[in-house]
Amino acid sequence: MASTSLLRTEDYVVGWVCTLEKEMAAAAAMLDERHHSVVMGGYDYALGSILGHKVVIVRPHWGFANTDSGSGYGFAAIAASSLLLSFKSIRFVLMVGIGSGVPGGNVDIRLGDVIVGRTVEYDFEETVRTNRFIQSDARSIPPTLLLSHITRVRSGHKMGTSRLPQYLGEMLAKHPHMIPEFSYPGTEHDQLFKPGYDHQGNGGTCENCDTSELVSRGDRWDTLPEIHPGVIATSNHAMRSGAIRERLKEELGERFNTFCFDTEVYGLIPGLPCLVIRGVSDYADSHGNDRWHGYAAATAAAFAKEFLGSLDTVRVADLQSALTS
Ligand SMILES: [Zn+2]
Repeated sequence: MASTSLLRTEDYVVGWVCTLEKEMAAAAAMLDERHHSVVMGGYDYALGSILGHKVVIVRPHWGFANTDSGSGYGFAAIAASSLLLSFKSIRFVLMVGIGSGVPGGNVDIRLGDVIVGRTVEYDFEETVRTNRFIQSDARSIPPTLLLSHITRVRSGHKMGTSRLPQYLGEMLAKHPHMIPEFSYPGTEHDQLFKPGYDHQGNGGTCENCDTSELVSRGDRWDTLPEIHPGVIATSNHAMRSGAIRERLKEELGERFNTFCFDTEVYGLIPGLPCLVIRGVSDYADSHGNDRWHGYAAATAAAFAKEFLGSLDTVRVADLQSALTS
């Protein structure tokens, strides 16, 4: 093992940005070696290595990003900018966290699945007002190297070589205190209600909701999270309406194939070489609660680790610095 005391900021080549405490905990649990932790300029940093890559994990620790009660819009995007100024050799950034999946259509999405790909920004208020998806010019497109490796990792999953169970299992074995919050919650809690049926009551669970309003879905062969290349539609307002979600799915289904909603990566620097990875923690409707936050954060982090493992460290080092690209 290399002496970590010899490592300099320029030795770190991969950035990993998250917002929620649970996302940070899952990220840090994926480190094979932890070199250093520091609080600097309003951010928590965890430095270490994952499968040979020197990684900096960062999370803002101000405001309501301190809680898991909600996500801060744009916080991850701001953190990414700060990261690049402090660690100038970062080649690309993984934006790893939870998101709101859009179920149905051609792709079977379940809670805990992972959606990975590019972002498009949209105007939430105008979208709601006009009942049409109002997209802005801002978007991110991951570097070709990263896109090609999504396909490679996903192909491996189709052939039964997913590393996600291993990484999730190692996380819980190494950190047993994470078991209550980060374990698989169970298929009985993966409830998709019909789009027109709103959440009943003020509680955080659906115990008052009518189960006859659930969408009937068959069981999967197993409960392993599936990986879906797709689009992350990001805005400054969380999507919490099954009806609007369905309307947008009709409009965007063919264009995006698979997509999810998010607020954290809103405002990403145009051209930033990054890949957005979202574990699906709810279905973008009024029934969303935090039961799945921990597990979805963990599956996104485990996928990020597997993804890094598919990348050759020399090829990553050969990439241009994110700051200058
Ligand atoms: Zn409900």
